Amino acid sequence: MRLYDTRSRTVRALEPRDPGKVGIYACGPTVYARIHIGNARPFVVFSLLGRFLEHEGLEVTLVVNLTDVNDKIYAAAAKTGTSSVALAAAMAAAYREDTDRLELGRPDHEPLASESIGAIVEYIETLIERGHAYVVDGDVYFRVRSDADYGALSRRELDQMDQGEDVEGAALKEDPLDFALWKAHKAGEDSAWDSPWGRGRPGWHIECSAMAEGLLGSAFDIHGGGIDLLFPHHENEAAQTRSARGAELARHWVHNGMLELGSQKMAKSVGNIAPLHEVLDRHGRDTVILFFCGAHYRQPIDYADEPLEQARAGVARLREVGRKLEAGPSPPDLAPLRERFFASLAEDFNTPSALAAMWEWVREANRRDAAIGGDDLREMLDVLALANLLENSDGEAPPEVVALALARQEARARGDFERADELRAEIEAAGWSVRDSAGGFELVPLER
Ligand SMILES: [Zn+2]
Repeated sequence: MRLYDTRSRTVRALEPRDPGKVGIYACGPTVYARIHIGNARPFVVFSLLGRFLEHEGLEVTLVVNLTDVNDKIYAAAAKTGTSSVALAAAMAAAYREDTDRLELGRPDHEPLASESIGAIVEYIETLIERGHAYVVDGDVYFRVRSDADYGALSRRELDQMDQGEDVEGAALKEDPLDFALWKAHKAGEDSAWDSPWGRGRPGWHIECSAMAEGLLGSAFDIHGGGIDLLFPHHENEAAQTRSARGAELARHWVHNGMLELGSQKMAKSVGNIAPLHEVLDRHGRDTVILFFCGAHYRQPIDYADEPLEQARAGVARLREVGRKLEAGPSPPDLAPLRERFFASLAEDFNTPSALAAMWEWVREANRRDAAIGGDDLREMLDVLALANLLENSDGEAPPEVVALALARQEARARGDFERADELRAEIEAAGWSVRDSAGGFELVPLER
C-alpha cells in the first residue's frame, strides 16, 4: 500500500518496521465533553485503514489514547462543580459508548494519560539529562532550539510557531518557542502527581510520545490524527522523541482533513457542533460510515444535508441489491471492479474512488436478469465495516430503526402525536416505513 506522509509531503510505500505487522497510533479525544461528529472522523478513518491493512494480510495494532488530564478538563469541571477526575471518567465512558455505536470494534489499546504518569516522568528526565529540557519553578520546558530538525514535520516559519500556551508560563521560558512538558500544580487544579520537580501534571504533547512508544516502540509505522494537530501537537511529539531517543517517533505521519459545518471546522470553541450520539440517533451508523467514506480522508468534509442524504440513499441501495444477491462467488467478469476497489484503497486509501468501483459493480448486478453471487460485494463492504447491509437484506430493520419505532409507539401511547410524527419522519429518513399493526408495528424497507 502507498500512503501520503505529511513529513515528506509525498505518497510513499508503507514499508512496515516489522514485516507483516503495522502499528498505528492515532491521537484520541480530550475527555471534557461528549464528542461531536468531527471528533469521530479520525476514529472512523484509522479504524477502517486498520481493517483494510488486515484485509491485505497484515497484523495491525491500533492505539488511540484518551487525554484525561488537561486544562480544558479542569475548566469544564470547575464550571459544572464536579471534580476533574469524575468529569474525565464520565466523559471517557461516554466516548466509549458513543464510538461503540459506530460498530467498528475497539482499538487494541486505549491508554489514559493519568495511568501513564510514570512513563511520562521518565521521558522528561531523559530530555533534561540530554540537555533538551529545563526546570523552572516546578515547571519543565522543552528547549525547542536544541532540536535541529524542529519544524521539519509542519514546515512552519519560526514566527508562525505559537505554542498556544498560557501567559504565566511565557515569563518562565528561556525562549517563547519552548513548550511545557510538566506543569507545577496550580491553585484550582484538583489533581496532581509527584515528580522529581515537585507536584504537578504532564503537558499534553509528552503524553503521546510516552504512550505511543510504550505500546508500539519508536519508529512505528503510522502516526495519525486530524490535520489540526500537526502544529504544535505533532511537531512537539516528533521533537520530544527525536531528542530523547535519537530516533523518529513514526515512519509515516498521516492526517485526516477536518469536518466542516457552515464552511468552518466543527469545534466546540466555534459552537457549530453536532454531538456524535445525536447524529447516530438521527442517521444511524451505516449512513454515518458511508458519509465519511464518500470523501477522501485528507480532504475536508462538509457536514451538510446533501452528502448525508446521498449516503442514506446509498445505504438503501445497498440493502436493496443485497436482497437480490445469492450467496456464493460473483461472476468473474465483475472481478476487475472488485480489483479496482481494492487498488483504490491501496493508493492512499482513496475511498471515493473505491466506492465508484463498488457502485459500478452494483449497477452491473442490477442489470443482470438472473441473481448473481454476492461474495465480491460482501468482501468490499466488509472492509468498510458495512457488510451488515447485506445481512439485513431479509427485511429486518437495524436496531437504531427499531429503537425509533419503539419510541414512536410510546409517544403515541401517551398521546404525543407531534413527537410520533417526528419519529416517523426519522424512520423514513433512515430508509424504512413504519406501519401500525395489531401486534404493535411493522417496519418495511423503503424502495428508492
Ligand atoms: Zn497526541
